[in-house]
Amino acid sequence: MLDLAIIGGGPAGLTAGLYATRGGLKDVVMFEKGMPGGQITSSSEIENYPGISEVMSGLDMMQNWPDQCMRFGMKHRMDEVSRVSKREDGIFEIKLLNDEIIESKSVVVCTGSTPRRSGVKGEDKFFGRGVSTCATCDGFFYKDKEVAVLGGGDTALEEALYLANICSKVHLIHRRDAFRASPVTVEKVKNNANIELILNATVDEIYGDNSGVMGVKISQKDGGKIDLAVPGIFVFVGMNVNNSILMQEDGTPLCELNENGNVIVDLEMHTSVKGLFAAGDLRIKASKQVVCAAGDGATAGIQALEYVND
Ligand code: FAD
Ligand code: NAP
Repeated sequence: MLDLAIIGGGPAGLTAGLYATRGGLKDVVMFEKGMPGGQITSSSEIENYPGISEVMSGLDMMQNWPDQCMRFGMKHRMDEVSRVSKREDGIFEIKLLNDEIIESKSVVVCTGSTPRRSGVKGEDKFFGRGVSTCATCDGFFYKDKEVAVLGGGDTALEEALYLANICSKVHLIHRRDAFRASPVTVEKVKNNANIELILNATVDEIYGDNSGVMGVKISQKDGGKIDLAVPGIFVFVGMNVNNSILMQEDGTPLCELNENGNVIVDLEMHTSVKGLFAAGDLRIKASKQVVCAAGDGATAGIQALEYVND
């Protein structure tokens, strides 16, 4: 039986593992369905992690985190968890996609969030063939070409800036004329000659042929229509909370969630279920920053240690 099962290997999960193992927990396994590092590894640059003054890619920043945890004994299993439940004897069961069940005394859930789809006609059809949610992964395919970016948050604007270094033009389409992104980033976008703003506008359709996207049809609030001939569109319209592993067979969640599906925790990352902790982007009121997810992870790791020792 494990002392602690950590579900998700982003900044929160890795830091939970670091603090729990360094604090003395012996059998700690982090279940991560992909490579550890989390969603920041898809970011072209991060410049607000305290103590790291140079701008670097998310992938580079996360590179050493797993090694550091494993040095203190954390183990990594590249497995997807399908459900977490708690038995009457107080032991948690971690069910994997292959139906294997692993027992654990405590659990930290750090499954974060995933990019949301906009629902625009053609988005699913052309996903991976001109529609992307990762500029770092796919930006280079559009070197010296024009692309569209959809969204008005930090992700859309930061990734538009990244793409503006590679592409001949970036058309940033946003449904309002005010941005959700931080003012510093908005300023950079407005001052970038390679970025053209299409505001108060929605995308009606992404169209193309067998080879992929050929363009996007746009409607403007003032009644105007634009047919933008671009081979690629990057969609950055927010994130969905990854809480499905908490759903029990009868459809109820294992612990309390808020109306958006975020896990309700207290200041020590305790959920409403004893021995179950949640950290990072999936918790209520998360600031959705790497440093905050790491801070949550540290708190959850320390609390899990205390719970198991008690
Ligand atoms: P995540 O990083 O989302 O990690 C969750 C992990 O859980 C993932 O690796 C996932 O594969 C795994 N997982 C999910 N479900 C399962 C399952 N069922 N079984 C096993 N594993 C599972 N923050 C900043 O501070 N500065 C920035 O500049 C910045 N830029 C960003 C740019 C982009 C493009 C994006 C998308 C985000 C950015 N953020 C930035 C936000 C930051 O990445 C997140 O706040 C942070 O990664 C959250 O960490 P987390 O550990 O909670 O979750
Ligand atoms: P977000 O802040 O939720 O922004 C989503 C954007 O997409 C909004 O502008 C929204 O428009 C728009 N949108 C939503 N649904 C849409 C639809 N169906 N069609 C068209 N547009 C749609 O999401 P995010 O930018 O991914 O950021 C997520 C979190 O991570 C935020 O908390 C953010 O601050 C954080 N983050 C931080 C950094 C950083 O610190 N450097 C970088 C990236 C992300 P409206 O504005 O009209 O609602």
